[in-house]
Amino acid sequence: MFLEGLKIVTLPGKGRCLVTTRSYRTGDVIFSAKPYAAVAFDSHLAQVCHSCYRSGQNLLQCGRCGFAFYCDRTCRQEGWPQHSSECADMQSCGLPTDNVRLVARILRRAIKDSVFGAEGEIISPDRLETHIERLSNDERQAMERDVTACLQFCPAASKHFDTAFILQMLQIVNLNSLILTDQSGVKAMGVGLFPTISLLNHDCWPNCCVTFNNGNRQANKATFHSSARAELRVMRAINADEELTVSYLSFVGLAEERRAFLLRDYFFECNCVHCQDHTQDTLLTAAKSKDIDAKQVVEDSKHALGKVDMALAEKHWDEVWSLCKEALDKHLPVLADTNIYLLRMLSAAAEAATHNRELGIAAIYAARAVTGYRDVCHPKSPQLLDAFVRAGALCYGSGLYEDAHTFLCEALAILIVTHGATHARTKYIQVMKAKVEREIALLRRNEVIPRVVQSERALERKSELHGLLAPYIKTIFPRRY
Ligand SMILES: [Zn+2]
Ligand SMILES: [Zn+2]
Ligand SMILES: [Zn+2]
Repeated sequence: MFLEGLKIVTLPGKGRCLVTTRSYRTGDVIFSAKPYAAVAFDSHLAQVCHSCYRSGQNLLQCGRCGFAFYCDRTCRQEGWPQHSSECADMQSCGLPTDNVRLVARILRRAIKDSVFGAEGEIISPDRLETHIERLSNDERQAMERDVTACLQFCPAASKHFDTAFILQMLQIVNLNSLILTDQSGVKAMGVGLFPTISLLNHDCWPNCCVTFNNGNRQANKATFHSSARAELRVMRAINADEELTVSYLSFVGLAEERRAFLLRDYFFECNCVHCQDHTQDTLLTAAKSKDIDAKQVVEDSKHALGKVDMALAEKHWDEVWSLCKEALDKHLPVLADTNIYLLRMLSAAAEAATHNRELGIAAIYAARAVTGYRDVCHPKSPQLLDAFVRAGALCYGSGLYEDAHTFLCEALAILIVTHGATHARTKYIQVMKAKVEREIALLRRNEVIPRVVQSERALERKSELHGLLAPYIKTIFPRRY
C-alpha cells in the first residue's frame, strides 16, 4: 500500500514509525482520510448523524431497523454502504455495544471488499498493533464475551474469520480507534478506525495533530459537499525524513503522570525528550518564590483536588465551589501561576462559578489560568486552546469585552493551524469574536454614558448573557476523553 509523501520506517527502540519524505509548513494538512469504519456511541445514538457525526435534533431515522439516524437524505445515502449489511441483523438481534458494532463493521467491510484495506491508506487495519499478551484475565474474558456478541450480531464473520482473529481485531479497535467529535469540536459522539493515523507514534511535544472534521454541508451545490474525515495537521515546520508524531494525552501533567497514563492505556513507556529531561516539571510544581517550600502546599492541593474531582463528577456545584474557594484562598498566594495543581483548581473554580451563574468570577479565574497554561502547554495544544476559548467566552459573558477579544484572537490563531479555516469550531469562535467586536464598537460610541449606567446595563444583561452561553457550557468545559 502506498501514500504519497509518507513511508513506514522501523526505528530501534521505537518500532514502526510514520515518516514524511518531504517538508511541511505549520498549518499544512499532510493527509485526510475517511474512517475505514465508524459507529456512534451507544449513549448518543439518536442525537448524532451516523454519517457525518454532527449532533442535532429530529434526525432522519432508518425506517427498517430504527437504530440508525442521519441529518438528511444526503447523509443517509453516504452512510448506507456501511449500514446496509448490518441493518437486517439489527432488526433481528438488536443492538450490541459500540465496540462490537465497530468490529462488526470492519469485518463486514472486509468480507464485502474481499480484502482488508482501503485506497488512500498506507496500512490495512488487521496489521495494526496489538498487545494481547498484556491483557489481564478479566480483560481477556470481557473481550471473549465481545467476540461471542460480535459473532451473534454478524453471523457471516464465522465463515471468514476464526475467534482468535476477531479477538485481535477487538484489541486493535480498543488501542487504535479515534474519537469522533460533533461540530463543536469537543463533544465525543462516536468512534472510528483510521488505519494510517493509527501508525502515528506519541510524543509529549508533537509536531502534528489529528482533527476530526464533520465535512462541509453548507455549500449550495451538492458537488461542493465534503465528507466527514480525520485530518493530519502540521503544528510546526517539519523537514523531510522527520518522524510524524501526535500526542495521545488529554491533559497537562508531570512527566511521571504522563508516563503512567501512557503505560496503563497504551502499553508503552514514553521516552520523548520532554519525559527524559522532565522539561516542564519544575514549572508545573513551582511556588511563587524560591524561599517557599511548596512541597506541603502541593500535597494539600493534590488532596483538595481529589475531593473537588469527586464533587465535579457528581456535579455538586456548591460543594465544588466551596472546596475550590477554601483551597484557592490558601494556595493562590503561595503557588506559581504555572503550578499544575493551581491551574486545575482554577479551572474547576471557573466551572463551578459558571454553573452558579457568577460569570464575572468565573472569567477572572479562567483568565488567571490562561497565564499559567500559556507557559506550560505546547503552543498549539488542545489544552491551551480550551483555556483561551474558556477565558474568551466567560469574559464575553461577563462584559469584559477587551479581554474577551484578546483571548478569542489567541484561540483563533491556534484553531487556524489545528482545525483550519472551514472547521465548524473555528467558525463558531469567529462568530463570537465578531459579536465582541460589535459590543466594543457600541461601547466606544457611547463613551459619554456614565460608567454607573454602563454597569447597570451590564447587570441587566447578566441573565441574557448567561442564557447565551448556556448551550456552550459543555464545550467550554470539555471533559477530555
Ligand atoms: Zn437500518
Ligand atoms: Zn450528517
Ligand atoms: Zn513523553
